Amino acid sequence: MVADSQPGHIDQIKQTNAGAVYRLIDQLGPVSRIDLSRLAQLAPASITKIVREMLEAHLVQETEIQEPGSRGRPAVGLMVETEAWHYLSLRISRGEIYLALRDLSSKLVVEDRLELALHAEQPLEMRIVALIDRFFIHHQHKLERLTAIAITLPGIIDTENGIVHRMPFYEDVKEMPLGEVLKNHTGVPVYIQHDISAWTMAEALFGASRGARDVIQVVIDHNVGAGVITDGRLLHAGSSSLVEIGHTQVDPYGRLCYCGNHGCLETIASVDSVLEMAQVRLSQSMSSTLHGQPLTVESLCQAAQQGDLLAKDIITGVGTHIGRILAIMVNLFNPQKILIGSPLSQASDVLFPAIADCIRQQSLPAYSKHIAVESTQFTNQGTMAGAALVKDAMYNGSLLIRLLQG
Ligand SMILES: [Zn+2]
Repeated sequence: MVADSQPGHIDQIKQTNAGAVYRLIDQLGPVSRIDLSRLAQLAPASITKIVREMLEAHLVQETEIQEPGSRGRPAVGLMVETEAWHYLSLRISRGEIYLALRDLSSKLVVEDRLELALHAEQPLEMRIVALIDRFFIHHQHKLERLTAIAITLPGIIDTENGIVHRMPFYEDVKEMPLGEVLKNHTGVPVYIQHDISAWTMAEALFGASRGARDVIQVVIDHNVGAGVITDGRLLHAGSSSLVEIGHTQVDPYGRLCYCGNHGCLETIASVDSVLEMAQVRLSQSMSSTLHGQPLTVESLCQAAQQGDLLAKDIITGVGTHIGRILAIMVNLFNPQKILIGSPLSQASDVLFPAIADCIRQQSLPAYSKHIAVESTQFTNQGTMAGAALVKDAMYNGSLLIRLLQG
């Protein structure tokens, strides 16, 4: 590659290189400078310079590595230094907000779950600012240097500019400039991402799809959506678009969906729709073990796992609808792995085979024969998804460069 002489371009190269070196140290450390030079394909002099800056900023530290069986002087290895660097990870979902402090190794320092009313006089962004202030006052004694804020939430989001166009459940939200408000209030960079996209990133960095280059992750919860990792990168990472499988029509005569169409996958397969349908079916069937107990996701899944015919039929139906859409996605993306993130995974013995059978019958055999359908490692709760945003910003160098510059 011919280096461009424009300073902006050189900064970009420096950022990318520093991010790549930090990633290697984080994932492989302790690692020697010689190995870093080879793995990052950068000249030893460049490695020395980047590492010196990181050492001065206390983002990495030196340690001795004794090669097994070697009697010589121990080599000097590099490891990341993470404990003195904190960030705030926020997660907003229906009626609740999680606030957490994590350190740069993603380790949880403290996490609070608070109620967040769906409607209020005050705009949502101002209520979030007030909750953050209270959180910091309350946990002041635990706080190390604050580096960033990561937020994950459902909705239509301009991740580049930190604007939340619309949100489900919080109907008053219109063009909320959440990123700017929080940046101005705290002075640190703010990373915003759709919760399903961020969760997909978290599974790829720390969870069930770690190391896989091509992954489809389907989330079946109050909403139905998907995240796609293709060639190691999140599809649509920089834009407001999500892989909207939830709003693909599966029944042209089906129920009206809030998106304006009829019979979307979400109107049939979301957890709320599944429970509604189970209630109707239950009133028409006498023999189910679900009679005489409250109908919940837990009781439905447990009944299906124990062989109750009605419960099994309902869960299999969800698997078939999801599987049909996934079969098309398999032909598009040829993934190594399909992850399912859902409370319905409590009936995984019924749900996962139903999805896998459908994919095998309806997509290219060469693509589908090795596919594994598995559960996500994390659940749709807590603030691990936000941790992925910060880790990604360190690895691509954008946050790292800011920390190096002090
Ligand atoms: Zn829809």
